Amino acid sequence: MSDALLTPQQRDLRDEARAFVRHSVPRQLLLDMDAEQVRYPHQYIEDLAQHHLLGLRFPTAYGGRGLDWSHEVLALEEIGVLGASLACLYSLPSIVGEALHVFGTAEQKERYLKPILAGKLTVAEALTEPRGGSDFFGATTTMTRQEDCYILNGQKRFIVGAEGADLFLVYARSKEDGAGHTAISTLLVERGPGVEVQHVYGLMGTRGGGTGRVYFRNVQVPLHNLVGKEHGGYEIFNQMMIPERMTSAAGALGLARAALEIAARYSNQRKAFGQKIREFEGVSFKIADSLTRLDAARALVYHTARIIDAAGNSGYVRRMVSEAKKFATDTAWAVVNDAMQVMGGIGYTNVYPIERLLRDARLMTIWTGTNEIMNLVIQHEYYRQLLAQPASARDVEADALNADADGEKIFE
Ligand SMILES: Cc1cc2nc3c(=O)[nH]c(=O)nc-3n(C[C@H](O)[C@H](O)[C@H](O)COP(=O)(O)OP(=O)(O)OC[C@H]3O[C@@H](n4cnc5c(N)ncnc54)[C@H](O)[C@@H]3O)c2cc1C
Repeated sequence: MSDALLTPQQRDLRDEARAFVRHSVPRQLLLDMDAEQVRYPHQYIEDLAQHHLLGLRFPTAYGGRGLDWSHEVLALEEIGVLGASLACLYSLPSIVGEALHVFGTAEQKERYLKPILAGKLTVAEALTEPRGGSDFFGATTTMTRQEDCYILNGQKRFIVGAEGADLFLVYARSKEDGAGHTAISTLLVERGPGVEVQHVYGLMGTRGGGTGRVYFRNVQVPLHNLVGKEHGGYEIFNQMMIPERMTSAAGALGLARAALEIAARYSNQRKAFGQKIREFEGVSFKIADSLTRLDAARALVYHTARIIDAAGNSGYVRRMVSEAKKFATDTAWAVVNDAMQVMGGIGYTNVYPIERLLRDARLMTIWTGTNEIMNLVIQHEYYRQLLAQPASARDVEADALNADADGEKIFE
């Protein structure tokens, strides 16, 4: 974002996050995570908390900074430079914290939100199941109410942070019958008896973030760990999808920016046929296209952040958030892919981090709702809004010579 558009407070926060990324994250951590020698970077979470960078939007009383989305996206873009694993782990307190902040009881906020933001309690969010992620409301994990607790049974997969998490935010079916969106509830589940996490081998990228499969076998969850209302998971899901998708979108900007910078600098040094490769249009136009795409994606993400700040949650907000997630992550993929092309063979090796960023970027179009699911939301909310009101500024349809030829307007 251009400095000219930032307030002094926004600039300071951006610079703070940038300084953290530059000075507080050891290079070796990134390498060890990619090699799966680190399975969960506890120290990184503690360092973020020490720098007071977790859960920026939440009230100061709980350890946040009481800021808004227009601020949080600035920090997220900077953290995104570290790649998808560290960006996602940074985002989890923002995502799980949203459910606690908006729907949690005072006791839940005190008991969970505070230590999460202090880096003392690590979290994961468990939505996806082996039988389907996009079809989320078809979840088959069940919770059954007993006198003094819920009994949770089922399994979740691809859960980032699972290996290190002390606390899981879990969606489960709380009613046997009824459509999923009326039958799902949300629980806070502490790691304990009946909770088993298995390491997921063989991720293409986004490694070292503790992605795992989680089994719940007759887990006793206290009744007071229900978030919101019983069977009220749909509402919580809709709210959580704002941070879920905005964190992906803003993180993707940083990741793509990092790759683009490496490729642009490389093209200014590398020579072929007696000249710098940036002097070939085939190279410099790729840089120009990438930059334009990235600036457009950033504009959409930052604009959406302001819309959320102004409008809270609504169908329109859901549409904009989905547009931002889709466009920013598709852009990141295209930009990193072109960065690799600009660098030629060396870009495909681990002499440069482009190949790691490419592996990370690929996931971003899949997780937090695939970009096809983003399209589903975008068209749904657009049609809903469009068809609920008359034509906008003017009846443009009437501005045709034969507009009144009703006999020609055949629809069936
Ligand atoms: C490394 C990793 C980390 C993850 N982290 C987490 C996490 O922390 N927590 C969590 O809960 N989940 C997580 N996920 C899960 C992720 O969000 C899901 O993988 C994703 O939502 C897609 O679900 P699926 O894999 O079941 O694919 P499916 O739902 O089976 O989809 C397969 C294909 O069908 C398409 N499709 C499905 N339905 C439609 C439709 N209606 N219209 C058009 N196309 C459709 C999809 O777009 C996709 O291309 C993670 C996944 C990975 C790989």
